[in-house]
Amino acid sequence: MENKQFNFDNSYSKLPKTLFTKINPEPVSQPKLVLFNKQLAIELNINLSNSNEIDLANIFSGNVIPQNACPISQAYAGHQFGYFTILGDGRANTLGEHINSKNNKRFDIQLKGSGKTPYSRNGDGRAALGPMLREYLISEALHHLRVPTTRGLAVVTTGEKVLRESQLIGSILTRTASSHIRIGTFQYVALKKDIKLLKILFKYTINRHFPSLIDSKNLVLNFLKSYMNKQIDLIVNWMRVGFIHGVMNTDNVTLSGETIDYGPCAFLDQYSGNTVFSSIDYHARYSFNNQPIIAQWNFARFTETLLPLIDKNIEKSIVIATELVESFAQEYKTKWLSMMKLKLGLLNSEKNDETLILELLNIMEKHSADYTNTFRELSTKKMSFKSKDFKIWFDKWNERLKKNNKPFSNSKSVMEFNNPVIIPRNFIVESVLDQANNYNMEPFNDFLSNLSNPYEISGKNKNYLSSPVTKQKYETFCGT
Ligand code: AMP
Ligand code: MG
Repeated sequence: MENKQFNFDNSYSKLPKTLFTKINPEPVSQPKLVLFNKQLAIELNINLSNSNEIDLANIFSGNVIPQNACPISQAYAGHQFGYFTILGDGRANTLGEHINSKNNKRFDIQLKGSGKTPYSRNGDGRAALGPMLREYLISEALHHLRVPTTRGLAVVTTGEKVLRESQLIGSILTRTASSHIRIGTFQYVALKKDIKLLKILFKYTINRHFPSLIDSKNLVLNFLKSYMNKQIDLIVNWMRVGFIHGVMNTDNVTLSGETIDYGPCAFLDQYSGNTVFSSIDYHARYSFNNQPIIAQWNFARFTETLLPLIDKNIEKSIVIATELVESFAQEYKTKWLSMMKLKLGLLNSEKNDETLILELLNIMEKHSADYTNTFRELSTKKMSFKSKDFKIWFDKWNERLKKNNKPFSNSKSVMEFNNPVIIPRNFIVESVLDQANNYNMEPFNDFLSNLSNPYEISGKNKNYLSSPVTKQKYETFCGT
């Protein structure tokens, strides 16, 4: 009997046809494997150990469709920078849902850059090598930082060029995700005003992502609360590691609570709450400090889609949903404060903790202090900054630590657990991608392997830890 590579069970493709189109990836001329995430394949129990590079290139380019796959592109809508649009997988194809037989967890296996679909609008359905490697690198970094995310399973080149500002190397990223259901999927269904379809999608989402709620009494409300908390946890984690997603459109917000769609994302070097990297984010909508506010706005859009299910009386539904959306800010603040306290080794609660945290962030901003290195340095109880305001703050913090009534070693281990040493710094990301575009993957692979152990200083990672010497203007681009 032939060994199956994937353990596919394709539940989404059994939903009503409005939600997707059955379509195969468009074949490419000369697929070549660039990256294969062997570790992830092992974790997910994907059986590719007997496949050679040519087999893998064929599978991950879409040239060969694995057994039991049911390739589809999904329909969805979304608010992009505040404006509602009909979208859909314009360049992505989900081959199927792989079930990890070890734990029964389900993962979409999706090719990104897989060719035109009915949702491509004016796009070519393709992707370039740089952005696909970037998504792979940064999503792996987030994963190892313990932030929920989709992950990269493979990257191939297609042997074809894609035309952007110049001709670029064509590429396909294979990503795994708990699902690709987005807020935008619900917005798409809400637009159709088809309650039956809405109920089907809702039930499917509960089964797939919130199975423990199935028998709960007030299902819709409990679900919304659980989902809100998942979103808050995600944003708090981004804030912990200094991550800016950059394009928090509602089509880029999953129901699973995983980070998705690494377009213009980047990590902070020097701390500034207003930092924006995306070249098209003219109004700083998705700046670092605006992320929780936008998450709340996105959550409000999500609750709107479920109004018909909250209560039979729509006025009553609006009141309930509004109250929930309004509770977002306080819930976020509580979780953010707990997280920041861990970053500073504050193990119990004192009334001035928030002020102490905000004071530090203000000083860091004023002196352009590096977000990652400042917190990590504090865990050594040293302070290399010479400015007077830093010194005053440092003394206050030391006084506060005494109120933990625990030895500093306790704080230190909490701080080291929550404050990374290594993040994918923009100037290094750009440098390794430049070299990859010139067919040298070695620097990329070395950086990637160091990012897999982000909380430990090692002899190997020391070249990657410094903040850029001068404050850099860094721009990232969408949909490339
Ligand atoms: P993103 O910015 O990656 O979230 O993409 C937003 C929308 O544009 C999604 O519907 C994508 O499928 C679509 N899109 C992005 N790039 C392309 C492309 N090259 N061809 C077709 N559709 C695309
Ligand atoms: Mg997207």
